[in-house]
Amino acid sequence: MAPEQPAGIFEALPKGRDTVTDDAANVLQSFFTTFQPGVKPLLLLDYDGTLAPFRVDRLKARPYTGVRESIARILHQGRTRLVVITGRPAREISLLLRGNPPIIEQPVEVWGLHGAERIHADGRRELELAPSSTQRKLDELREYLRHNNLGGEFEDKPNAAVMHWRGASPRTAKFIEVRTRELFEPMSKMDGLMLLEFEGGLELRVGRDKGGAVDTLIAEAAPGTPVAYVGDDVTDEAAFRAVSSVGGPHLSILMRQDERETAADVWLRPPSGVRVFLKRWYKALQHEPRRRAAAA
Ligand SMILES: [Mg+2]
Repeated sequence: MAPEQPAGIFEALPKGRDTVTDDAANVLQSFFTTFQPGVKPLLLLDYDGTLAPFRVDRLKARPYTGVRESIARILHQGRTRLVVITGRPAREISLLLRGNPPIIEQPVEVWGLHGAERIHADGRRELELAPSSTQRKLDELREYLRHNNLGGEFEDKPNAAVMHWRGASPRTAKFIEVRTRELFEPMSKMDGLMLLEFEGGLELRVGRDKGGAVDTLIAEAAPGTPVAYVGDDVTDEAAFRAVSSVGGPHLSILMRQDERETAADVWLRPPSGVRVFLKRWYKALQHEPRRRAAAA
């Protein structure tokens, strides 16, 4: 189930109504029909741009209306293994996702730092570390950028230096990008370091990427477990490819306003697309026992 181009195209909708095109609905439905009684499908979700609109002040990026409620219902239903995979530190997502007062009460497993960090639902935390000589160089760069942000917005992560130019004028953005590449690209040749391109910025980092996170989660699941991944950014492409490479039922969804070349199976536009997908996921598992009863 991995066509060259997204199969579904989201059309303009009447106000206040959530729907997707027939093509997209068919792709979703054919995936949901693979759900079997007793098997917990794996639902892997990016956060920014997928569950929540992008905000320059990222601590204000709350989920789209209805998304928390849908996730809460899916968790309460108890038939899905739901995991969030984000570029941010995992703890930020745990707080933003829950709501205040909390709408989502059950703990959610979150992979942070694009897969280098993992916080299990029971609170255990794992963090990938770089070889010490590499980590020292990375720490020196982070220290430098804390005092000289090159005109962009520097994000300091334990496993990475990140420069953002999203929101800057095209001319300023180009200037920041050139200066960032001059610093990051030579260092990316060092053992354990790699560059991660994303929309409106560049990250120099150590550790797994989102594709590596997806590979790990799939390896931990029972063979043949259906798996879906939803994301918006170029960093999600590694996850789409990881999902497409599994032998069992799988679905990858590009969730963004504008179409682009992608490895995903289907393109949906937020916020309607994400609301429809989550509602149908829940319904597919609600109806599953009846299908079994009918077949028996
Ligand atoms: Mg995203």
